[in-house]
Amino acid sequence: MIRITPYGAAGEVTGSAYLLETDEATILVDFGMFQGDKDDDARNVVPGRVHRADVHAVLLTHGHLDHSGRLPLLVRDGYRGPIYCTAATRDITEIILNDAAHIQESDFERKQRRAQRGGRKLSRTDEPLYDHEDVEQTLGQMVVSEYSTAIQVARGVSAVFHEAGHLLGSTSLEVRIRDGEGERIVVFSGDLGPLHLPYLRDPEPPRKADVIVLESTYGDRDHRSLEETLVEFEKIIVDAVERKGKIFIPSFAIGRAQQIMYHIADLVRRKRIPSVPIFLDSPMAIKADAVYRKHTELFDTESASMVDNGQLRHDLRGLRVCVTADESKAINEEQGPFIVIAGSGMCTAGRIMHHIRNSISDPKAHFVIVGYQARGSLGRKLVDGVAGVKVFGEYHNVRAQIHTLGGFSAHAGQTELVEWCSAVAQSGVSSILLTHGEDDARLALRKKLEHRLGVVGYMPTYSEHCEV
Ligand SMILES: [Zn+2]
Repeated sequence: MIRITPYGAAGEVTGSAYLLETDEATILVDFGMFQGDKDDDARNVVPGRVHRADVHAVLLTHGHLDHSGRLPLLVRDGYRGPIYCTAATRDITEIILNDAAHIQESDFERKQRRAQRGGRKLSRTDEPLYDHEDVEQTLGQMVVSEYSTAIQVARGVSAVFHEAGHLLGSTSLEVRIRDGEGERIVVFSGDLGPLHLPYLRDPEPPRKADVIVLESTYGDRDHRSLEETLVEFEKIIVDAVERKGKIFIPSFAIGRAQQIMYHIADLVRRKRIPSVPIFLDSPMAIKADAVYRKHTELFDTESASMVDNGQLRHDLRGLRVCVTADESKAINEEQGPFIVIAGSGMCTAGRIMHHIRNSISDPKAHFVIVGYQARGSLGRKLVDGVAGVKVFGEYHNVRAQIHTLGGFSAHAGQTELVEWCSAVAQSGVSSILLTHGEDDARLALRKKLEHRLGVVGYMPTYSEHCEV
């Protein structure tokens, strides 16, 4: 028997978690946080069935919060077994989980102050989900594994990590399960990157599978091409520099910020834009940079050689990092042209909020949106062209120029998903489970895959047992 039960990312893109049960072992693949909805706190728990299961091992595909964010809850719940992942995933998860614990603790303190003022008592649901100690314990249980090497993870179960090209250290998982005299293979795609993402190697699909669990974030479309996006990006910078304007780029700290800097370096090197000051105004992105520098062995050959021969550092000679709040505030005194990269990526918190307050009414300022903006976020409002925004309780007219660039995704588009899945399924596959995507995306991908492979993908719901 092999049974796969999703406890998240079924018909949506966050909360990735799969319980994989065999006759001999119970494995958890990813245990991510639900994000983006105000009701998510109630869903960020260890589901009863996972709680009762005797989990023998956890396999973590990559460090993003929506794949790793519930692990400290599992540990708090008493799990003391191994969490297998790559070395870079361990390092990235350390930054991400500590940041999550920090956000929860400061939210809790804010609620406490408010409750004290109002003479109210806090309820249990107001408490942080976990703290830094839980995170430390979780990190201590991580067992670092190499790419492309089979490791025994539980009785009758071994696993191989394959490059997923989505984030530094990201993987697709090939899980080999003893089945009588033979073996069955379940492949979890994890989040898949597009081809040619800066720094990262392209995804390397496993060559064989009986069952594929496939992400479908962009199952219904292909992205705007990176070439077109870079041409637009270049034009924005050139125009802004000519008018001595300020350019602000709200960005996720890990992955996206490094990608944007890489493209800026490339434009400088090709003399498409002049070298201007670039402020990396994000303590988390600075930490992520250190992880990238530590793991250059994972870079594609082009990036590795540009790091080795100092080319990248030369191209980014305008880079200044702002660790402290004072360094961040000092940017206000600077005259343009310059570029600021700051979090959060959806303008919901972080230092970008100060830059929005100070510059959103300046017609010479440019805000360049380079990532996904969830409904309800301030970033989404800017994309939608609102006339004014409220920041720190004050209303500001939007007079800055807002640009939206759609081609920087770290997820494979529809065509790339189909190609990846076809490569894995080349010697025949019995089932495909479509997860990590909204239903429109899953349906569109299912249709494409049926046409290409003759297999009808299944679309499981939360906690649905899938016998495969
Ligand atoms: Zn991811």
